[in-house]
Amino acid sequence: MRLEGKKALITGAAQGIGKAIALGMAKEGADIGIADVNIESAEKTAQEIRESGRKSISIKLDVSKQGDVSSAFATFIKEFGVLDILVNNAGITKDNVLLRMKEEDWDAVLNINLKGSFLCSKEAVKIMTKQRSGKIISISSVVAFMGNPGQANYSASKAGLIGLTKTIAKEYASRGIRANAVAPGFIQTAMTDVLPDAVKDEMKRAIPLGQFGTPEDVTNAVIFLSSKEADYITGQVIHVNGGMYM
Ligand code: NAP
Repeated sequence: MRLEGKKALITGAAQGIGKAIALGMAKEGADIGIADVNIESAEKTAQEIRESGRKSISIKLDVSKQGDVSSAFATFIKEFGVLDILVNNAGITKDNVLLRMKEEDWDAVLNINLKGSFLCSKEAVKIMTKQRSGKIISISSVVAFMGNPGQANYSASKAGLIGLTKTIAKEYASRGIRANAVAPGFIQTAMTDVLPDAVKDEMKRAIPLGQFGTPEDVTNAVIFLSSKEADYITGQVIHVNGGMYM
């Protein structure tokens, strides 16, 4: 058990990669706060974790709203007392080529993917500086490093997360806080299921390992960064992409 007794808050954990991270961390002994805009699905995930024998609560949270973020962290601390790990996982896409991208689609993606992680990280750092320990892991993307047609907003938000991560790592290392990112490639979830088959086939051809990743592949990297084994690692990015970017 690599996370025995640890208390973790995961955003966007009702489904997909966030849910896999939550279940994987619980299996390693952690108690989990499942924070998501979709409270019904969040509660189902929390219930699944409770049935596996760990503590878990669902928390309604829109990461782009300061009021929601403050009360979500307060609820978490009331329940668990400490915050050992924050995973900034909540994210959305609103794709279009630059000339057709609406300002509101730019704002929505930046507000949730980047500002949301800023607000949550700030709340976490407030708690973790007092504890003098804590780990913040943000889920970026391979497109932060490669760019991707149709994803100016998404690529910019995920690249922004890398700058945010490295800055938190430098500012709060002296307080025992580690900040790292995981950059997944193409992972099979609801977010990618909607892509046309032709796009998926083309992407598969661009992956040296010849297959898409699973939410569990991302989970493994997040658990490693959360564990004691990664205590000397901060400000880094782990790429989980089958060799798509190297
Ligand atoms: P997903 O299946 O769409 O799950 C995202 C979860 O976040 C959903 O439960 C969603 O709720 C929730 N969410 C959306 N907006 C939110 C908000 N404002 N506040 C709180 N929660 C919110 O996506 P995924 O594929 O698991 O992706 C998870 C993360 O990995 C994202 O940051 C994504 O960018 C990143 N990523 C994914 C891939 C991939 O290939 N799938 C690759 C690289 C990076 P609703 O469903 O109700 O909106």
